[in-house]
Amino acid sequence: MIIDILELKSRNGSLLDYFFQEELGNLENADMLIRKEDQSTPVNVKVYAYFTDDKVYISGELKTWVTAYCSRCLAPFKQEVGGEFWEEFQVGEPVMEEEKHEDELLLSREAANNLEIKGNYLDLREYIRQLFIVFQEWKPLCDPQCKGLCSECGINLNEKDCACIRKTVDPRLAPLQELKKETN
Ligand SMILES: [Zn+2]
Ligand SMILES: [Zn+2]
Repeated sequence: MIIDILELKSRNGSLLDYFFQEELGNLENADMLIRKEDQSTPVNVKVYAYFTDDKVYISGELKTWVTAYCSRCLAPFKQEVGGEFWEEFQVGEPVMEEEKHEDELLLSREAANNLEIKGNYLDLREYIRQLFIVFQEWKPLCDPQCKGLCSECGINLNEKDCACIRKTVDPRLAPLQELKKETN
């Protein structure tokens, strides 16, 4: 996920487009969030970039899928994770020697946090990793109509019904129900 700043500079002001594909597992800095079964799921990243006034402007779209667990019925399902982004990176002093390539990549990887580019390359991997986290759905639903689990017997109500009488009264309506009891 590398953008060559020198190339962008040479096209001063004109828009270049990139398409990156990376496995989810490669986004990680060893820590958390990506489940084993999702490690090799591709992340598709479309990026438009241009350079002007010592800044690189990018916009684009990220799209991938993860195994999510429904927050109501707990069933696993494939969920799309993605969204659009827009960012600007300040370009620092250029580095001339070609052999610095590896160091530069390390530098630019770090710099993605600070949104400053120190070498001739902008490596978007760290930025994309952060976006991936931001785009996560924290209360995923397998379906907006998911019926969830029975609060009494725990059965998945999407699959089967049960005979339980579920006392799920909206607390705001509880006084009304009391009133109803009294009048009966
Ligand atoms: Zn569900
Ligand atoms: Zn039940």
